[in-house]
Amino acid sequence: MNIVSIDCPHCGAAVERKQNEYFGTCPYCGCEVCFDEAKAEAEVAGLRNKVSDLDKHLNAEKQYKQQLAAWEKKRTRLYLITGVMSFVGFLCTVLSSDSEDGYIAIGVTLILGALFGLLTVSLLRCADCPKPVDADTPKKGSFLKVFGTGFIILCGTAFLSAIIYAIFSA
Ligand SMILES: [Zn+2]
Repeated sequence: MNIVSIDCPHCGAAVERKQNEYFGTCPYCGCEVCFDEAKAEAEVAGLRNKVSDLDKHLNAEKQYKQQLAAWEKKRTRLYLITGVMSFVGFLCTVLSSDSEDGYIAIGVTLILGALFGLLTVSLLRCADCPKPVDADTPKKGSFLKVFGTGFIILCGTAFLSAIIYAIFSA
């Protein structure tokens, strides 16, 4: 007997089809699925509404995953910009001590810009984070998490530029 299975739309685990059953339940997250091969049979058996409900749920999950991936991409971009601004800004500030004073203004502007940019964009990003389909899925986009991670990156890159400066000025 060949085992028919479908990927759970919610967590991605394989849900195996038990003999002659139209619907299956994911053993990991409890998400209900309709097997593609069983769709026509289930509809004939008068379960058209259930099949369409499950299809709707499946599409909603797919859409959520796409939106979340796009959101995570934007978040990564925020971290990257914060890191680069902080790195360059701190490097300018430390360089200014033995060369021109003009660097310090650029450096401080960049560091403050990175900090305020991070704060503002974190707030915006968390507001437009897509909501999960199921209530039991933890919602992403906590402000403290996004801002906190960005802040660690900001400090980390500043520290990195200090190390690089120390190596090259030794
Ligand atoms: Zn699952």
